[in-house]
Amino acid sequence: MPGPLAKRVLLIGWDAADWTFLTPLLDEGKMPNLKKLIDDGVSGRIATLQPILSPILWTSIATGKRGDKHGVLSFIEPKPNGQGIQPVSSYSRRAKALWNILSQLGRPSVVVNWFASHPAEKIRGAIVSNRFSDAAIDERPLEEATFHPADLLPVMEKLRITPSKMAPAQMVPFFLEAFPKDDDPRLQVLAKAVAQCATVHNAATYLAEAEEWDFLAVYYDTIDHIGHGFTEYAPPRMPHISEEDFKIYRHVMESTYRYHDLMLGRWLELAGEDTTVIVLSDHGFFHGESRPLAERGRVSGERPSGVHNNPLAWHRQHGIFVARGEGIRKDALAHGTSLLDVAPTIMAMLGLPVPQDFEGKVMTQIFEEPLAIESVPSFEEPHPDDGVHRGIAPEEEDPWAAQQALQQLADLGYIDAPQGDTQKLQLSAMEAHDSHLAQIYYASGRFNECLGLLDSLISRSQDLSYPCRKVMCYLAMGRPDEAEAILQDVVKVAPKYGLAKMLAGQLALVKGDIEKSEAIFKELKETETEMPSMHTMLGTIYLRRGKWEEAAALFRSALKADPDFVDAHDGLGVALRHLGQLEDSVYEHMRAVSLQHDRPQTHVNLGISLAKTRQIPWAIRAFNVAAEMAPAEPFPHRCLSRIYRRLAPDREKARHHLLIARDLRRKLGGKTPAFRLGA
Ligand SMILES: [Zn+2]
Repeated sequence: MPGPLAKRVLLIGWDAADWTFLTPLLDEGKMPNLKKLIDDGVSGRIATLQPILSPILWTSIATGKRGDKHGVLSFIEPKPNGQGIQPVSSYSRRAKALWNILSQLGRPSVVVNWFASHPAEKIRGAIVSNRFSDAAIDERPLEEATFHPADLLPVMEKLRITPSKMAPAQMVPFFLEAFPKDDDPRLQVLAKAVAQCATVHNAATYLAEAEEWDFLAVYYDTIDHIGHGFTEYAPPRMPHISEEDFKIYRHVMESTYRYHDLMLGRWLELAGEDTTVIVLSDHGFFHGESRPLAERGRVSGERPSGVHNNPLAWHRQHGIFVARGEGIRKDALAHGTSLLDVAPTIMAMLGLPVPQDFEGKVMTQIFEEPLAIESVPSFEEPHPDDGVHRGIAPEEEDPWAAQQALQQLADLGYIDAPQGDTQKLQLSAMEAHDSHLAQIYYASGRFNECLGLLDSLISRSQDLSYPCRKVMCYLAMGRPDEAEAILQDVVKVAPKYGLAKMLAGQLALVKGDIEKSEAIFKELKETETEMPSMHTMLGTIYLRRGKWEEAAALFRSALKADPDFVDAHDGLGVALRHLGQLEDSVYEHMRAVSLQHDRPQTHVNLGISLAKTRQIPWAIRAFNVAAEMAPAEPFPHRCLSRIYRRLAPDREKARHHLLIARDLRRKLGGKTPAFRLGA
């Protein structure tokens, strides 16, 4: 095996950083350090995982595994003694993070502010847990468990910045036109977020110089936190924002991004040329015209009165990924990456074996030369030097600090206020845990496990979204009759429930009642706030009806709201193919594939458009990818058989794929094949 590409790797996490906001700033020269990193390395969108919840996602980034394997399924969890809730901790994580694996391999790491890193694990290297930034809010004494080694405490005490330590001058860069009044509560929110950010940055940059490390991971939540509070004030002015507030707060988001660029500049100095630097976010964030509006009256259709108050409605599918370093391509784009690919890629960069139980793959496409990648089955076996916390978390040494951490999450709208009835809090934490786990099962195609959990949730909760999610499972499994039976019960109880209506529309489509489906989606398009997906679904119906122009128009309007909406790119590609705009069709399917690689249907669509433009070897490749991703589906083989019969004559291969297609068709029996659009 050749030597490692990277002497060491610096991983910088910017929660919720988004290209749609960043790109104009880069073009205007306002993010010079990120620009340098992009020019000297690879950059692109990175696909997030479901559910789009930061603690689950950052733990997936660090462990290379989805939430069902790593066990961090929310911000909070029920306390083991049954007395209420607590923040998720390093004891909640059931899979090794990169720093545990490196530690057992004798390599040192520095980890600062990562989700679920408290209490700090005793790894080779140093950890400042995510409790440190909570402690930046006030002057309380710090807890030893926040630090490894524990003797970091006195230094860290000096490095923490509390809001009271911040001079008004430090806030000036956020307000370029007008300054808010001293008692404006929004100013306090901002000062708190900036103090926490500075605290994290101080700790991490201090350790970068003071410690030996091969891997340094630092996590900044500031863009997400300030984003949730202040994106609504950014231009263009939204109707519910007064002229005065707009003048005061319009620059806050831009200044926040520029502040991160300044910090990145410091990191580039510290890292030097021989460190591989990665900057990434766990998901994107809706900005500009795509900002989600408050839910309208579902039936009345009155004007929304402001922005959506559920933080999750603001999280977009695609985050940012930028990497620069030895052996990494320069000024190149990185396509088709997922959060799960980060951990294996870092292992490969460091010249270490990649465990086969990581769920992603090494991003081979970002390297100049093919990498020789060694693999091992797993690193999960306990090891004396892995530093992993096992068993049940000990009682908090400072219960007030834990309470403060919970209050923080409540202030951000991520959890309910922690002061309520402890038993109720406990039950709702367990419900969230199972609900998120069911989402992970659904997103990874494990429908039976998903159904089991949903049944258990239904037995505990009146929430009608659970039976609706069963309907989604049955639809995805190609069992529309079971879906229909459940949906009928929901509609009886709540005839105006938007999600149930949407599913009724999908069900009608699956059962071939296209007129009914069209009527439902036409109504939903007017009343529901999730505009891009409603437009896309109606567009899909028009594809089935052969109304290509209408379909294309709807997909385009969805893409205006969210330029990275994969279904809309894919649907637009099909519409354009039928309209004879073949090159544009190929382009749209390519966009869809680069945004999200693991969509066999999209590879089939791409293959068909490529075949029509006579790019035969590429078409064959696309069909083969689809066949590999969806081994039970006959359609990709049917396409391959056809292409070998007509366009790239090879009788033997044509026959081979035809036989496979027939065999798979038989195995599918009465079930609906997943592929429909391609036909
Ligand atoms: Zn996040």
